[in-house]
Amino acid sequence: MTNTFEQYESEVRGYCRSFPTVFSSAKGAWMTDTSGQRYLDFFCGAGVLNYGHNPDKIKQALLAYLMRDGITHSLDMYTEAKQRFIERFNEVILQPRGLHYKFQFPGPTGTNAVEAALKLARKVTGREQVVGFTNAFHGMTLGALAVTGNGFKRAGAGVPLGHSASVPFDGYLGADTDTLDYFEALLKDGGSGMDKPAAVILETVQAEGGVNVASVEWLQRLRRITAEHGILLIADDIQVGCGRTGGFFSFEEAGIVPDIVTLSKSLSGYGLPLALVLMKPEFDQWAPGEHNGTFRGHNPAFVTATAALAHWESDTLARDVARKGALVERQLQRMVQRLTPGAQVRGRGLIWGVEFSDATLAGRISQACFERGLIIETAGIDDQVLKLLPSLTISDEELQHGLDVIETSLQAVLGQADAQPQACAELAKAA
Ligand SMILES: *Cc1c(COP(=O)(O)O)cnc(C)c1O
Repeated sequence: MTNTFEQYESEVRGYCRSFPTVFSSAKGAWMTDTSGQRYLDFFCGAGVLNYGHNPDKIKQALLAYLMRDGITHSLDMYTEAKQRFIERFNEVILQPRGLHYKFQFPGPTGTNAVEAALKLARKVTGREQVVGFTNAFHGMTLGALAVTGNGFKRAGAGVPLGHSASVPFDGYLGADTDTLDYFEALLKDGGSGMDKPAAVILETVQAEGGVNVASVEWLQRLRRITAEHGILLIADDIQVGCGRTGGFFSFEEAGIVPDIVTLSKSLSGYGLPLALVLMKPEFDQWAPGEHNGTFRGHNPAFVTATAALAHWESDTLARDVARKGALVERQLQRMVQRLTPGAQVRGRGLIWGVEFSDATLAGRISQACFERGLIIETAGIDDQVLKLLPSLTISDEELQHGLDVIETSLQAVLGQADAQPQACAELAKAA
């Protein structure tokens, strides 16, 4: 059944190895494979499907647009679909938050948005260096990779990655160290060996990096430091924006205003590729066509992204995310207390991670979950963190069902004590 892929698709394929079946349809929080087996989706395309699979209202808007032969491709020419998106995004998202940004539509993937943001920051400041954080993830093209932490992915570049520096993220040196003391000292000291950066690129919650959550105070201090030194702050909200942490932007909670924001993943609301770079107007220093591309702003994706904005006309979804997030946290805390007391539970909104002291546990739980009809991935440099990314629109019953499957799977994995001496140790600790 999966032979076609093993025979013809490059060895580079990844997620299909964790979830080895052939999917054929999906609705809401569920995916169905060709044998009719249903899976509850706690991965959501790594945060692409915040509103679930094939949501009806968004699908209707897309179908109506296609049926009336609305334009599909237009390079970056003016279209009705793009105009509606810009106007509605301003009305529904930016204006109510007091934000003023100009819009750049780069190529449709997240890494395209990151590349555009990095180029712009370098052009605006005339500086070369960009600071990223330990365990950061910003994409696979060379510029984005240079500010990404993962050594295996970095090595894939095949060329030196430069014009970047990595500094410790919040919590990297333990709970008692404010890592910004170090960063600020480097910036202030002419002997530090760090060139003054053009920008700092930030994830408020490092999703791929293991669900590492920056505190509000740390984010506010980072904003102060970057402003004081004339360094642009780029918020990469590709995975944790679009409501994942509750507010539309993940940085809202800290009350900070980044100079540049990158969005992609859930922006189209339907799984269609779309990326956006938001920049403060004074930093819009591009010359016409200086950064271009063929697929900049895909009209069907503008249509679905505009329809998705209906979720943001009230605070219902944000409140719902906060409530569901609290439920997830409670349940995970209870689970680890009962079964793996050493484990850490981290998250915000509806992104949660569980880091076990046995690094192999997360992968084995993910596999056991898949066998029980739940799709859930791991994160972190050693895949040591079980990462929960349910859709924001998931029902309470579905959410509870998924959490129950995780607990059952953890129990089952710990029960394989003979084959797994380390799991046995976790169990012994729990007893
Ligand atoms: C996924 C992701 C990217 C890269 O997006 P692609 O569409 O895979 O290129 C960049 N930054 C963050 C934070 C991401 O989660």
